[in-house]
Amino acid sequence: MLYDVIIVGSGPAGLTAAIYTSRAGLKTVVAAGMLWGGQLMLTQEVENFPGFESGILGPRLMEKMRKQAERFGAELIFENATSADLKSKPFKVTVGNKTYTGKSVIIATGSSAKWLGLESETRLRGRGVSVCATCDAPFFRDKKVTVVGGGDTAMEEALFLSKVVSEVKVIHRRDKLRACMFLQEKAFANPKITFVWNSTVQDVLGKDRVEGVRLKNVVSGEESVLSCDAVFLAIGHKPNTDVFKDQIELDQTGYIVARDGTRTNIEGVFVAGDVADKRYRQAIAAAGSGCKAALDAEKHLIGT
Ligand code: NAP
Repeated sequence: MLYDVIIVGSGPAGLTAAIYTSRAGLKTVVAAGMLWGGQLMLTQEVENFPGFESGILGPRLMEKMRKQAERFGAELIFENATSADLKSKPFKVTVGNKTYTGKSVIIATGSSAKWLGLESETRLRGRGVSVCATCDAPFFRDKKVTVVGGGDTAMEEALFLSKVVSEVKVIHRRDKLRACMFLQEKAFANPKITFVWNSTVQDVLGKDRVEGVRLKNVVSGEESVLSCDAVFLAIGHKPNTDVFKDQIELDQTGYIVARDGTRTNIEGVFVAGDVADKRYRQAIAAAGSGCKAALDAEKHLIGT
């Protein structure tokens, strides 16, 4: 079957695009992924998505978007896209063991958490090393944990963890936070949260589970050991572009280049959400760009 639109990704960008394209009567398939829903599936309360005055749980919000897209006839495939051929038309995207062909493609694959790149971090992943406090905090009730990073995510993770653990130490490589003032003030006022400034993690210590971290003070060069039961990394994200590697134009930091709205360098291929947005990275911004990509795809299809 030839689809009008193949959407890759099922976060707010992908599902909003699916709501618009399917509602417009375009035959739409969504490569939703085995872990569908994107980063909001890993969050708790979302308080800044318009329309939910008392907040809404991230997974609940995604469930609503999914049902809305399905209501208009979007077909969701709960397997990962493994390869794509955007070099000739119709475009092809392989999802699980099936290849889908489409007249247009909307890439909405989002971004993933960054890791430090330490051998010990990989070995102890899931044994105290985590990139998701919401997922793993309950394992460390009344324990001592560290959070690495100085941005909004790091503050949110530290504040979330402070409700469960006995102590949170935020390790930051500079002496100033990058996080917004509101979150900084909340973190500074929290008695369970303290800061280790100008420090980087050299190694995560422990054989079968995290027992501590070896730190280096980047100003004095001094090394020290900090004992803890878990390390939560919150050092940013990288765009998920592996499936489209070598086919689509990326900027120097690996994000897909969007021009004139949501167009990419390939006619008929559009981009939405965090995979092209290193600046705003908000669910509502992703949803908005999903809408734009759908409208751009629709316009393109009318012209073909
Ligand atoms: P971010 O703003 O890029 O911050 C990453 C932090 O990790 C920075 O403090 C950075 O240090 C540090 N870092 C990066 N690489 C490191 C490394 N290899 N080793 C040690 N530290 C490292 O990422 P984010 O906090 O995930 O936020 C991303 C975007 O999402 C931002 O635009 C943010 O505003 C937004 N966001 C918003 C909310 C909200 O509105 N509630 C919540 C979460 C995220 P430096 O400061 O030295 O660069």
